[in-house]
Parts: sequence; structure tokens; C-alpha cells
Amino acid sequence: MPESPHDHELFDIIEREVERQSTTLQLIASENFTSPAVMAATGSALTNKYSEGYPGKRYYGGNHVIDQSEELARNRVKALFGAEHANVQPHSGASANMAVYMGLLQPGDTILGMRLDQGGHLTHGSPVNASGKLYRFVSYGVTPSDERIDFDQVAELAHRERPKMIVAGATAYPRIIDPEPFARIAQEVGALFLFDAAHIAGLIAGGVHPSPVPHADVVTFTTHKTLRGPRGGCILSRAEHADAVDKAVFPGLQGGPLEHVIAAKAVAFFEAAQPAFADYAAAVVRNCQALAEALAGEGFRLVSGGTDNHLLLVDLRSWNSDISGKKARLALDRAGITLNENTVPDDPRPPYITSGLRIGTAAVTTAGMREQEMRTIAGLISRVLGSLGDADEERAVRDEVNALCSKFPPYPA
Ligand SMILES: *Cc1c(COP(=O)(O)O)cnc(C)c1O
Repeated sequence: MPESPHDHELFDIIEREVERQSTTLQLIASENFTSPAVMAATGSALTNKYSEGYPGKRYYGGNHVIDQSEELARNRVKALFGAEHANVQPHSGASANMAVYMGLLQPGDTILGMRLDQGGHLTHGSPVNASGKLYRFVSYGVTPSDERIDFDQVAELAHRERPKMIVAGATAYPRIIDPEPFARIAQEVGALFLFDAAHIAGLIAGGVHPSPVPHADVVTFTTHKTLRGPRGGCILSRAEHADAVDKAVFPGLQGGPLEHVIAAKAVAFFEAAQPAFADYAAAVVRNCQALAEALAGEGFRLVSGGTDNHLLLVDLRSWNSDISGKKARLALDRAGITLNENTVPDDPRPPYITSGLRIGTAAVTTAGMREQEMRTIAGLISRVLGSLGDADEERAVRDEVNALCSKFPPYPA
């Protein structure tokens, strides 16, 4: 291999990012800390191989070893979720969803999905996303009273619009998503049922949320959120949809698969099948509930009044109507608390400003924090937002965040 001079410029940046991740609080609900084994596979020589096609049916030579890795990933994820078929090649959750639409529907078909401003994802019909440009999305939301999915509305829209597909799943919804009523309504109107488990795949694998696999035609998810694997997507389906799904991923949407990432997915599926992962999933939810309770104690209103999963939504309006989600996020960032702004149901502000915050516990739980630390975090958030823009207070909180994080290094030396 030719010698190349050490790339200080880039590797210094990576070192600084590792330091940022280790010294600030990672509360973004879609993030986690992968294991060293997952990172080792992601950084392996498998990145060198072209493997267009599927195990046993490749377009290039030299794939007999890679085939074993992709086969292992497929078998492990099928066993983990009890699925009939798995495609582990989607580069991301968005690609997985797009492949399902392309494989099972025609452009222009009607799809019923969750409103984006009430928790649904861009790939569930946003006008700026391919899903919204190619398909006719109709949206359901949450009830005004308890801010949970409005199944009366789902049923009413399904019967009126006769969608070809119903999509369940969300990117900002703090409650259990029961797959059964969706499956029943889909069956009543003859629609396919896609469950997008991007956020909660780890909670399902860990046994703390109901599995959609027995109820849905197709389940998509990301491998990097609560499942704690490498950045990527995955599709599980009934056997009858296997061919259509596989053809839509390749050659329909993607070229060569990222076999180093697929190997890392295999590692993550192995880790998620261990008993310790069930303990982890339960701890994520317990932590989130402790954080919710402590934030409510500080006077914050939580969307739906609390949480059943790894994330919660703070509605800032009743706390201080002058603080937007964006302003709050920027202030917390300065204090070393990393999270994102998010719309709340019927948000008067636009999606890039918002009136809410989304806070997740998947990463801090991996780092080893438990309920006591959640109460500390709630106090720190309250201090920053209670004296918004006060640089001294931000600096004081930043110091306490540093001290807290130093006790829970995600990657101990
Ligand atoms: C995160 C997410 C996705 C997309 O995942 P990417 O890997 O970012 O493309 C899709 N659907 C839902 C519900 C998500 O939360």
C-alpha cells in the first residue's frame, strides 16, 4: 500500500468530535453511542468490496466471503424480530421507506401517514421529500385532548380515501404506537400496512414495546437510533413481498451496498439479542420517565403529559411564550446540552423555529446514566432556560455538564 502523509487536518477534527461527544450531554432522540465492535466493523476492509446484488446472486466476483456477512446480518435480524424476510442493504431509513413505496405502490397512489407537525417523518409525505412529490399523502394526527394518535380519524380517513397503504410510525411521538388498530383498519379497507419503527426498533428488540412484525406487511427501521448500531436502514417484510422489496432496493434505488456497514449491522443485531440489551431498553424508558417527571416538576408542560418511550416533547409555550424551540436549543447548546427544537401539536411557529424541544435518553443511558442523573439534567435545563441568554449561568451549567459527563465516558480510555 502506498505510504501517505498523516492527514492531521482531518483526524484532528475526528478527535475533536469524539471530545465533543464525551464532554457534552447527548440528548438528541435519534442518536446513540455504538459499541467499539460496531465501529470496528464499520471501519473494516469490507468497505473495499463491490457487491451489487444479493448473497449468491452478485454481479461481481470475489463475494463468497462478503456473502457470509450479509447472510449473517439477514439471519440475525430475522431471528431478532421474528420476520419472514429481511433486506439489510438500505443506506438509511429514508432509503428504506422509499424502497417500500417504490416496490409495493405506483406513483400517484394514495398513502395515509402521520402529520409531520404532529410527529410524522419527512418520508411520510412532506412536499419537499420524494414521498410527497410521487404519492398522494393524506394525514392523520393526534387528538387535541390527550395528544395521542386519533384512531377514529385514522379509520374515518381510511374509509373515505381508500389508501393503498397506511403508514404508522413517527419521529417525535412520546407514546407507545399500538400496531393492532392500524392493522385492523388497513385490513378493513384493503390497504397494505407499513410500520416505520425507525426510532423504536431498539425498544421493540428489547421487548419493552409491542412488535409490529406480526401485524404489518412491512416494517422499516434505522439501525442507528435506539437499536444502537451503525448509521443505516433495514426492511423486514412478509415472504410474499420479499421479491418486490429486494428489487426496489437494488436495482431500483441503490447501487452497491455498503458491506462494511452491513457487517456492523450484523454486530448490532447480535448485541441486541443479548439479555443485557433488554435491560438497556428498559433503562432507556425508565430514564425518560424520570426525566419527564423532573421536568414537569420544574414547571414544563410535556406533550401528552409524559412518555412511554425514549423521548419526550417539551411544550415551551406555557413556560415562557417568548422562548422558541430554536432559541432554547441554541442556549442549551452553549451550556453543553445537545438536543433539537421540535414542533408541538398545533404549533403557531414554523418548523425551523418551533415552540418545543425533543429530548431523548438513548445515548445517555448507553453512557451509564440513570434516574438520579436525569433529575440533575432536568435541573440544568431549567436553569439555562430560566435565565435565557445569561452567559454566566450558561458557563456555570457548562462546568456542571462537564463534571457530569466525565463520570460517564461513552468510550472509556
Ligand atoms: C429517522 C427516521 C427516518 C429516516 O432515517 P434516516 O436514516 O435519517 O434516513 C425515517 N422514519 C422515521 C420515523 C424516522 O424517525
